[in-house]
Amino acid sequence: MGNTVHEKPVDFKKELLKRRKNKKVGDARDNFFESFVNAIAGSAFLINKKGTILATNQAACKRLGKTFEELISTNLFDAVPPELAVTGREQVNSAIQSKQPIQYKDECQGRVIYTNIYPILKPKGNVEKLAILEIDFTTAKHDEKALELTTHHLKQTVEDLKNANQKILDQQKSVIEEERLKVLLQMAGATAHELNQPLTALLGNIEMMGLYRNDPVKLFDHVAFIEEAGQRISNIVKKIQSIHHYETKPYDTNTAILNFDQKIIILSVEDTDKDFETINSLLINHSQVHLARAKSNAEAIKLLKNKEFDLIFLDYMLPDGNGLELLRIMNQKKIDIPVVVITGQGDDLIAAQIIQEGAYDYLPKSRISEKSISRIITNTLEKVRLKKEIKLAHKKMAEMSVKDELTQLYNRRYYNDVIKQEISRANRYSSNLFLIMADIDFFKKVNDTYGHMTGDAVLTDIGRIFKDHFRKSDIACRYGGEEFAVILPNSSPEKAFAVCERLREIIASHLFIHDENELYITISIGISCLNDTAEKSSKELITMADRALYQAKRSGRNKVISSVVKS
Ligand code: GH3
Ligand code: MG
Ligand code: MG
Ligand code: MG
Repeated sequence: MGNTVHEKPVDFKKELLKRRKNKKVGDARDNFFESFVNAIAGSAFLINKKGTILATNQAACKRLGKTFEELISTNLFDAVPPELAVTGREQVNSAIQSKQPIQYKDECQGRVIYTNIYPILKPKGNVEKLAILEIDFTTAKHDEKALELTTHHLKQTVEDLKNANQKILDQQKSVIEEERLKVLLQMAGATAHELNQPLTALLGNIEMMGLYRNDPVKLFDHVAFIEEAGQRISNIVKKIQSIHHYETKPYDTNTAILNFDQKIIILSVEDTDKDFETINSLLINHSQVHLARAKSNAEAIKLLKNKEFDLIFLDYMLPDGNGLELLRIMNQKKIDIPVVVITGQGDDLIAAQIIQEGAYDYLPKSRISEKSISRIITNTLEKVRLKKEIKLAHKKMAEMSVKDELTQLYNRRYYNDVIKQEISRANRYSSNLFLIMADIDFFKKVNDTYGHMTGDAVLTDIGRIFKDHFRKSDIACRYGGEEFAVILPNSSPEKAFAVCERLREIIASHLFIHDENELYITISIGISCLNDTAEKSSKELITMADRALYQAKRSGRNKVISSVVKS
C-alpha cells in the first residue's frame, strides 16, 4: 500500500456559506478597525519588517501632508521626509530584535511626540509586522503648563488675599488702639481745661490770704473758698479715675483659652450636619458656651429676631443664599452681633469679601481646632468689648467736654453746670454774683455781607478778646450762636459795669480782618445780679440779664445796660 492521502470530501455548499459568513465578519471587522484607527488622534502605521506601509490612518495623512494612496505600499522610512520623521529604522529594528514593544519620546518641529512600536508576531514567534502609533502630546503638555501656571497664580492670589485679610485685621486693631488713644487724649485735654477754673480760684484765694494776713474774718472767708475749690478738684480727679478704670485692659491676640466668666451664646449658621457636629464637639468642654444652630439664612434671621446672641459662626454656602447676604440683612436691620465666617477650604476670596462687609474674623474649616476656635471666640468678644468701651468713652468724652471749638470759650453745657455751683456757693458764703449777657449787633448782616467763614472768624476773634479781657476766676462762655455769657463771681455793680463798658469799647474799636474783608462790629451787653433776684435761681439771673440786653438793643445797640439795683 502506497501513501494514500485520505481527503475528507468537501461539502462545497457548506464551505461557501462558511466563507461568505467569514467574509461578512471580516468586512465588518475591517470596517470597525478602519473607523477606529481613523478616530485615533495620533498617526498610526502598520508596516512589514522592511518598513513597507501596509495600512495607515487619517491622522498620519494629515501630519505628513499626503493621501492614503500616496502612503500605502511605500516605505515608511522613505515616504516620511527626515524633518517629519519620528519613527526611525533603528527603533523598528530594535523592536524586531527584542520582540518587545518599545516606547520613546521625540521632539519634532517643536512638537512633543510619543511613539509606540508594537511588534506583531507570527504563530512561530517571529516578527511579521509592526504597528506604530505616534501621539502628539504638545497640546497636552501646553495644557499642563497652563494648568500649572493657573494653579501658581491661584496660590499667589490666595496668599495675597490672606495677607490682605491679615492687614484688615491688623488695621482694625490699630484703629481701635488709635481711637482709644485719641479719646484718652481728648479726655485729658477736657479735664485739664476743667481743672483750670477751680485751680485758678484756689491760687487767687491763696494770694488774697496773703493780703489779709491780719484780718481773721476775711481770712476765714478765703479758707472757705479754698475748701470749695478743693472739693471741685477732688470731684474732677474722681472722674479721671473712673476713666482709667475701664481703659486699661489690653488687646490680646494670643489667648487660647476662653477666659470669659459669663455665658456665651453662639449661633452657628451651618447647613452641613458634619461641620456643625465638628464645631459642637470642639466646644463641648467649654460649659459657658451655648451653641444654637440655624440651617439657612431664613432660619438665622428668624432666630436673631427672637433671641439674643453674643456671636455668630457663619458658613458661606447655605441652601437659601450665601453668608454675604445674611451680613447685608443684618446691617439693614441694624442687628449688631459680631460675625465670624467659618469658610470651606479655599474660600479665602469669599472670606476677604465678607470681612470687608463687616465680619469680625474668619476661620477656614481646614484649620478648625479646639485651640483656634477658642482663640477666635476670645479675640472677637474682646474686639466687641473694646468697641463698646470706645463708644462709652466717646459718650463720656462728650459729657466731659467743656469747651466750644470755635471760640475756645466754655460751652453752654459747662455754663449750665457752673452757674448752679456758683449760685449755691454765693448763697453759702453770702457773696454776690454778676451775670453778663452779650450779643453781637447785626451779626446776620456780617454773614450776609462777608459770608459765614468771615462770620466764624469774627466769632473766633471775639472769643480771644473775651478771654484776654476777663480775669481767670471769671467764667466766659459761648451761650449760643453769637451770644456770650460771663459769670463774675467776685465783683461789685460798679466793677461789673466798668468791665463791660471797657469790653464794649475794645470790640467797637477793633478792626476784624479775614481774608480780604476788613470790618468793625459792636456788641450790646446786659448785666444782672444775683442779689436782685427773688428766688436766687439761674433762670431768673438769665431772664434779668436778657431783659437788660434787650434794652441795650432797643436803645440803639453798642450799649451796656445793667439791671442791677444799686444799694
Ligand atoms: P441783633 O443786633 O438784633 O442781634 O441782630 P443780629 O443780626 O445779630 O440778629 P440775631 O441775633 O437774631 O442773629 C444772629 C445771627 O448769627 C444768626 C446766624 O446767622 C448768626 N450765627 C449764629 N451762630 C453762628 C456761627 O456759629 N457762625 C456764623 N458765621 N454765624 C452765626
Ligand atoms: Mg454650607
Ligand atoms: Mg443773637
Ligand atoms: Mg445779634
